[in-house]
Amino acid sequence: MQLRCAHCGHVEPLLTRRWRCVCGRPFVLEGVPEFRREAIQLHKRGLWRYRELLPPFEGEPVTLGEGGTPLLFGEWDGLRLGLKLEFMAPTGSFKDRGASVLVSFLRSWGVDDVLDDSSGNAGAALAAYGAHAGLHVRIFVPAHASAAKRAQIAIYGAELVTVEGPRPRATEAALKAVDEGAYYASHAYSPLVLEGMATFGYELLEQLDWHVPDNLVFPVGHGSFMASAYLAMKRMQSAGVLDHLPRFFAVQSQACTPILQAWQQGREDVEDVAPAKTVAEGITISHPVWGWYVLKAVRETDGAVFAVNDDEIIAAQKALASRGLYVEPTSAVPFAALKQLRKLIAPQELTVLPLTGHGLKSH
Ligand SMILES: [Zn+2]
Repeated sequence: MQLRCAHCGHVEPLLTRRWRCVCGRPFVLEGVPEFRREAIQLHKRGLWRYRELLPPFEGEPVTLGEGGTPLLFGEWDGLRLGLKLEFMAPTGSFKDRGASVLVSFLRSWGVDDVLDDSSGNAGAALAAYGAHAGLHVRIFVPAHASAAKRAQIAIYGAELVTVEGPRPRATEAALKAVDEGAYYASHAYSPLVLEGMATFGYELLEQLDWHVPDNLVFPVGHGSFMASAYLAMKRMQSAGVLDHLPRFFAVQSQACTPILQAWQQGREDVEDVAPAKTVAEGITISHPVWGWYVLKAVRETDGAVFAVNDDEIIAAQKALASRGLYVEPTSAVPFAALKQLRKLIAPQELTVLPLTGHGLKSH
């Protein structure tokens, strides 16, 4: 296996300290086993039933029981929805998929000092899996991260470094520590995190008995979750398991819309923006690492990019809670976009939304 830049094609060995390409874009893994339905280990539950579809490593996986999240069907305002309850993960968010795979590799490599910068959920996931594997974990969080998320990171025993100022300051502080020798276990850049998240796509199709859903709607900050789902769908299509792709829809907070702006202006690449304050702090990303890739997925599948405001996000959070589903505001973002989405889709279509993070995290 080796790393290849998803943008310019530059190649690096898997075991490199380079966490992104010289062109600034993220790497993807090359040489991952081809998708085969027969490779799924049906006697196992959760993410690791897909182990033979994941990049191989020596030893046992670092697992807390992630993956295998429920897919709940329902009707909302005349739309057919599939809600995938990713918040029902060990640390309460979909980030556990990536953390489980990344930390499994780190342990097999003997890496024991790792760090990430995060607004909360990725940090909590790395802290939990790192604790389980006995790694020293440092998480750089912006001071505006929710108190619940900071407390969650700290209780796993990770070193919590609170960084004042806007979100990019936490990244700058993290990179300084990387220069001093720690491993950058970046949830945004790591190709191993992307591979872990790709299991969402495999799992979804398995739950749908291999019928392609019509539409997938993601909350988008860095865009890595949507990128991983697109990658998973493309792999299943190449393997002949899917005969077409679902339409991909990306939703941003109106306070921070770098991808929406690029889409509206017909640009292939995304320019940095200065974000405003929003309740959807998990997707307040001014420099989206997977921005151009999200645009590719949207354009190739006849999707769209939307933005929603805080009032719509809070209303969506309450609407989900009125059905017993308590998610954090960031995770209500795709639901908040349904009004815009319904203008582009037919009522009988199946639209799948991941509900990414638990509501208890937002206090
Ligand atoms: Zn490159």
